[in-house]
Amino acid sequence: MRIETQCLHEGYSPKNGEPRVLPIYQSTTYTYDSTEHIGKLFDLTTDGHMYSRISNPTVAAVEAKIAAMEGGVGALCTTSGQAASLISLLNIMKSGDHFISASTIYGGTINLFAVTLKRFGIECTFVSPDATEEEIQMEFKQNTKAVFGETIANPSMCVFDIEKFANIAHKNNVPLLVDNTFATPYLCRPFEFGADIVIHSTTKYMDGHAVQVGGVIVDSGNFNWGNGKFKEFTEPDESYHGVIYCDTFKNAAYIAKARVQMMRDIGAYPSANAAFLLNLGLETLAVRMERHCRNAEKVAEYLSKSDKIEFVNYPALKTDKYHDLAKKYLPLGCSGVISLSIKGNRENAVKFMDALKLASNEVHVADIRTCVLHPASSTHRQLTDSQLISAGITPGLVRLSIGIENLDDIIEDIEQALQEI
Ligand SMILES: *Cc1c(COP(=O)(O)O)cnc(C)c1O
Repeated sequence: MRIETQCLHEGYSPKNGEPRVLPIYQSTTYTYDSTEHIGKLFDLTTDGHMYSRISNPTVAAVEAKIAAMEGGVGALCTTSGQAASLISLLNIMKSGDHFISASTIYGGTINLFAVTLKRFGIECTFVSPDATEEEIQMEFKQNTKAVFGETIANPSMCVFDIEKFANIAHKNNVPLLVDNTFATPYLCRPFEFGADIVIHSTTKYMDGHAVQVGGVIVDSGNFNWGNGKFKEFTEPDESYHGVIYCDTFKNAAYIAKARVQMMRDIGAYPSANAAFLLNLGLETLAVRMERHCRNAEKVAEYLSKSDKIEFVNYPALKTDKYHDLAKKYLPLGCSGVISLSIKGNRENAVKFMDALKLASNEVHVADIRTCVLHPASSTHRQLTDSQLISAGITPGLVRLSIGIENLDDIIEDIEQALQEI
């Protein structure tokens, strides 16, 4: 199946007389014929649902769909994108470990990496996504366990050179984790370029309708966790009667451990109802992304011609700094998100945003409705000035998330708002 078909048909195929639409299994609990069977579930010697903090049939169908769309061996849904980032890293790191991240990532992820994980004893070094291989190599230490980046950075719209970072990570025997939220598997499948783990905030385009916060972790199945650096995969887990993840789960060891160990203990698993809503969004992902990209390209072209605009970041524009990387990684388009700077001061940016009538002021992005946000005073408010600069955010930067409305209506709205400046 190609991706448009996968959106609709992967993960759930009803048999004779069963519901056409994925059912909501609103049950915390499952029943078994024997105590012995339950014992086997707890020993991980048989498959099956045990408890809805670890798995649930509705969520499992959505996990299978997303794994197929990304081309991975398995996926684990989470209650938010933040939970996906946290669990994806805690699954391979502990106190005393270190990892490297591109500096151009979502503001919430920067807080998680720079402040909260640090309190847990896990240290992060931020590097410019444009750094050379040699410069990045210099940041590796004995205890470095992972490299992290965002396919299209929120909100700087910088395109992450997945292949470059994958090569460096693999030379150092560590995995590359990629946050693929803005691209979605419709625009980019990072595993095809060497990424090992993909995460998403499904709250954005995957849901698409602004109805359900969620996240997901996807495992490519390609990384060798038995290379000696990741002892928790090759030594017995005391919390499961000595299971050895690499032996029992082979190339799905990462995602199996994330579920049966991390999710069991952290408990950030979505409800069946949340997964049902996410599935509805996924069914139309391909058509929505096509429209988001087409509209945003035209809006970006329009904005780049206006004399009231200082700059427009949209990698599909030929003049964009990341255009060559976009051609390689995002041949179908660069999502609906555009960031731009209004000439003059921060007040002009605010005036422009407040004058928009169709586009609403929201703490959200990647929605079917056009919306707008000022990152420096909201999602990235906690960042210091130097963190803001390295995340690619100037004080006047406006994040415009182009929806799937009629293109002329969107442009007319922007036109009248620019006239207010
Ligand atoms: C929103 C976002 C997140 C965080 O996801 P939540 O679902 O809000 O927890 C992570 N990464 C990116 C790129 C995002 O845009």
